[in-house]
Amino acid sequence: MTLTVGKGLTERAERVSAVAAAHADDVDVKGRFPREAVDAMIAERLLSIQIPAALGGEDASVSEIAEICSVLGQTCSAAAMVFAMHHIKLSSLVSHGAGDAWHSGFMRRVSDEQLLLASATTEGGIGGNLRNSICAIEITDDTCRLTKDATVISYGAHADAILITSRAHADAASTDQVMTVFTRDQYTLEQTHVWDTLGMRGTCSDGWLFKGEAPKAQILPKPFAEIAAQSMLATSHLLWSAVWYGIAVNAVARAQAFVRAAARKSPGVTPPGALRLAEASNLLQLVKSNTIAGLKEYEAAKADPDRLSSMGFAVAMNNVKIASSETILTIINQAMLICGIMGYKNGTPFSLGRHLRDAHSAQLMISNDRILGNTSNLLLVHKQDTSLIG
Ligand SMILES: Cc1cc2nc3c(=O)[nH]c(=O)nc-3n(C[C@H](O)[C@H](O)[C@H](O)COP(=O)(O)OP(=O)(O)OC[C@H]3O[C@@H](n4cnc5c(N)ncnc54)[C@H](O)[C@@H]3O)c2cc1C
Repeated sequence: MTLTVGKGLTERAERVSAVAAAHADDVDVKGRFPREAVDAMIAERLLSIQIPAALGGEDASVSEIAEICSVLGQTCSAAAMVFAMHHIKLSSLVSHGAGDAWHSGFMRRVSDEQLLLASATTEGGIGGNLRNSICAIEITDDTCRLTKDATVISYGAHADAILITSRAHADAASTDQVMTVFTRDQYTLEQTHVWDTLGMRGTCSDGWLFKGEAPKAQILPKPFAEIAAQSMLATSHLLWSAVWYGIAVNAVARAQAFVRAAARKSPGVTPPGALRLAEASNLLQLVKSNTIAGLKEYEAAKADPDRLSSMGFAVAMNNVKIASSETILTIINQAMLICGIMGYKNGTPFSLGRHLRDAHSAQLMISNDRILGNTSNLLLVHKQDTSLIG
């Protein structure tokens, strides 16, 4: 995919990716925040590209952001996921906050100061069922207050603001939710869980008891049900998929380098891994096509709130997530079989342990079973879209 010429997004992303590559193993081993890569994103002003130009951004499309997620995912999955999650939060502000004075002003601040946004939807007792909350926001006069047992907030300790879900008021049903922006000076975080995980270690997704107080104008003006359906779910599935695709791209590139080196060593003899590489290339293309189709569908639906809220759109986005999160594991496993012990060992040019561990988060990042459960309910009434025209 070619990014918009003029913004130089490709070059900017590649410069950040090179910085991320230099620190990726250290970030993984220490389970530390990818500070250098995020500083490079800030230096390249990549944190505000999605914001409208009138508010200091560059009007970047979701496809352009997805391409950057993939470029970063090819070197450091954690840095790529931080970038993706920041832009998922920003998509809710751009889609639902642009007509509102506080949120427009905040987007200008994000541009000017390159603020990093984090997300707190997961809650103790609710898990990843993001369309439900236990905690409720309290509103007194012009002030809102919230306490939330936020069991997973990626880079919570490093963010400049957190977008957090809750019930709309003390008597609201669990699905009657709002999302509120709290800036760093408006909340405290008390650590409740340590993120010591198999993979995606650098996202530093610790658990926190969040306590915040802010002007009530910081509550997004639309119900969270609309925000989730019209921006957050789609951008999550698409941008996560772009990160995961990037991880798989790099795994296949390593496997291809391994096969080529073997071919050079024994001219005229097809290396044993060559056939498997062809299979991996086929699966990689499937993930790419699936992600591009999802991105196109979202771009086309963006101007039409009914289409964005339709069952067909939800099924399509769920399917993008399920397919990419499952298929990358098969691809990386193929790459591991091709590279053999050189892929299994850390510290070789063909190492794939980090890729495989990071990729295992994909099926859990909102459990695929939960997503399949949602799709299966929709398919009780929705007829699968089978047209090749789109
Ligand atoms: C790298 C990473 C970063 C993350 N960052 C953030 C963040 O910044 N902010 C945030 O709020 N959250 C974050 N999360 C949390 C994530 O969004 C989910 O909340 C979390 O993965 C739990 O998902 P879950 O509740 O769907 O599954 P789990 O709570 O893990 O579910 C447990 C088990 O129950 C099963 N299950 C649960 N519900 C259903 C159902 N309805 N149908 C069928 N089976 C079900 C699942 O199969 C699963 O095996 C992050 C997760 C990861 C992996």
